[in-house]
Amino acid sequence: MRSFVHTTGPSRVIFGAGTIEQVRAEAERLGAARVMLLSDGSPALRKNTERLREALGDLVAAEFDGAVMHTPVEVTQQALGLLRDRHVDCLVAIGGGSTTGLAKALAARTDLPQIIVPTTYAGSEVTPVLGESADGRKTTRSAPEILPETVVYDIDLTLGLPFAMSVTSGVNALAHAVEALYSPDATPAVDALALEAVAAIGRALPALHHDPSDREARADLLQAAWLAGTCLGAVGMGLHHKLCHTLGGTFGLPHGETHTVVLPHAMAYNASAAPDAMARVAHALGVPDAATGVFDLVRQTGGPTSLRELGLTEADLDRAAELATAQPYPNPRELTRTGLADLLSEAWQGRRPQPAAGSAPDLRPLTDEVVASFDGCANPRLRQLLTDLARTLHGYAARNDLTPQEWQRAIDFLTQAGHITTGTRQEFILLSDTLGISSVVDALANSRTPETTSSAILGPFYVAGPPAAEHGADIAGGLEGTPMWADIKVTDPEGTPVGGAVVDVWQSNEDGFYDVQLPDLDGPVLRARFTTGEDGRFTFWSILPSEYPIPDDGPVGRMLSAVGRHPYRAPHVHFLINAPGHQPLITQLFVRGGAYLDGAPGQRDAVFGVKDDLVTDFTPHTGPTPDGRPVEGEWRLLDFTFRIAPSDGERAPTSSTETA
Ligand code: NAD
Repeated sequence: MRSFVHTTGPSRVIFGAGTIEQVRAEAERLGAARVMLLSDGSPALRKNTERLREALGDLVAAEFDGAVMHTPVEVTQQALGLLRDRHVDCLVAIGGGSTTGLAKALAARTDLPQIIVPTTYAGSEVTPVLGESADGRKTTRSAPEILPETVVYDIDLTLGLPFAMSVTSGVNALAHAVEALYSPDATPAVDALALEAVAAIGRALPALHHDPSDREARADLLQAAWLAGTCLGAVGMGLHHKLCHTLGGTFGLPHGETHTVVLPHAMAYNASAAPDAMARVAHALGVPDAATGVFDLVRQTGGPTSLRELGLTEADLDRAAELATAQPYPNPRELTRTGLADLLSEAWQGRRPQPAAGSAPDLRPLTDEVVASFDGCANPRLRQLLTDLARTLHGYAARNDLTPQEWQRAIDFLTQAGHITTGTRQEFILLSDTLGISSVVDALANSRTPETTSSAILGPFYVAGPPAAEHGADIAGGLEGTPMWADIKVTDPEGTPVGGAVVDVWQSNEDGFYDVQLPDLDGPVLRARFTTGEDGRFTFWSILPSEYPIPDDGPVGRMLSAVGRHPYRAPHVHFLINAPGHQPLITQLFVRGGAYLDGAPGQRDAVFGVKDDLVTDFTPHTGPTPDGRPVEGEWRLLDFTFRIAPSDGERAPTSSTETA
């Protein structure tokens, strides 16, 4: 069991496109009458700042455009003077983490409400943390009043963020999510936010590399920034953030770029001590190894990969390692000066980190090549099915670390299934049935019209073109068993009889065998074709079906026995209904109270074919029969109405009369 404490700060988040227009209403909601508009004065943000000024209108009482990186106290003091002069009652900041930092610094001193309109992915807007610099030293503190009251995310403001900055800012967000996953304070809620953020960043950065104005990818990334920022605000960070803090604070390296270079190396350092977190990151990114996956993502999207290119000198590495180990802080792996010196050296040189021991090889190039080999297929549906099959099978092999011997056994299994298959014995249908795939395909094709009778799988014993039979005929061919009178109606969903419906019926005998399994029988038995009358009805005599094992003397039977599953099907009668103007229905009726209808998974019907509305009474009777036929002792009555759907002209017919 995992024990945890989860705290979330009270903040309101508005997310969308064009939301900048809502900032005035949000200010009024906070009771503001005299707003101070904060920005960093950068030309790149001038237009958006103007839009915000216009949206706020006469609420703007003061404006300060001097926000700078690392929130120097002297800049904050300057802004504070203006704030007091103009009797400001609310702070509105537009920009990246630097402008947000200024708003937070002012709120920390005045407790004024803040509305932040972020234009990067730094995530500061949803944390109660403030980093400030004074006399060349950066310190951080956390307090409830530092957390902004309202955040207005407007993806339109991020469309102009240069792609290179989108990468570094996006990896900054990724770093919050990754370190949250191995933080000692993490909670299930933090994990979920972090993984969602990792996956979205992994999707969005390559998409933006392809097209920086891709609005969906921008929205994905901004949403991930919010989620990752929320993680940063909820839990303590580890080695990666400490290193970046040191490299930024002491050596003046740029914030986002430093995060981008350091993250894969910090992850590789921690990988052996946080294998679960790394496996989850790798899974979310769809890569075999988390650290190399992040490095490859950065390289693929053209981000910086070395501290050398950010201006750090080799001589600084030792000092950086010393500073990062000077004070203890929580981190999954013990921090040693040599270990960090090695990490920084690798990061300085821009080397690809080593994949974690035991991680799978990178199969993506191979899978991509196989998928691309289907590009020439002119049939788009076939191409889709084959490419996804290749991806799914490659993923299956990788996830299970499949050995050559295991794969050979799978091939031998399929070969045996082929050898045992004949015109009347279909091992592949048995395989499909016992793996539940037949029921999945059946559900996909036939479960969308709830007002009609459920369908069920065809099974391996259907034989096309059964002998036509008259109403009231006996199809048991003299076989022993409890007599059963079937009175069957076919209607549409409103209950109107469907005349002229052709209904194939087939079932097992009282020992559970179908005629095709009984070589001594002469001709088809317990199978027939009826046509409904104008009243949608037909009747026949047969015998009560019983439970039976599917053929288990082949590879499928050996598979069931290897996993402790029985091969039995619950007792049932099959129906296949074809009526002009209606969708075909393939289904089965199960004997209520029969064997294998209940029990634990693996103990019920061996092919997962039972559906509740198909379990029906085969009511016991004695005495006179409906057609006056004399019967000694008990006989059963099956009285059932099938409701079939009209053709909609679009959906493909359900099956497969040619499958047998
Ligand atoms: P930033 O705010 O310094 O912005 C970097 C540059 O990008 C600036 O020149 C800015 O004008 C420009 N810019 C911003 N948005 C733009 C856009 N949409 N289009 C074009 N240009 C744009 O950088 P940042 O990475 O957002 O923030 C870094 C700062 O935030 C650091 O000081 C860091 O310590 C702090 N931070 C704090 C926290 C926290 O929780 N306290 C969290 C993350 C970052």
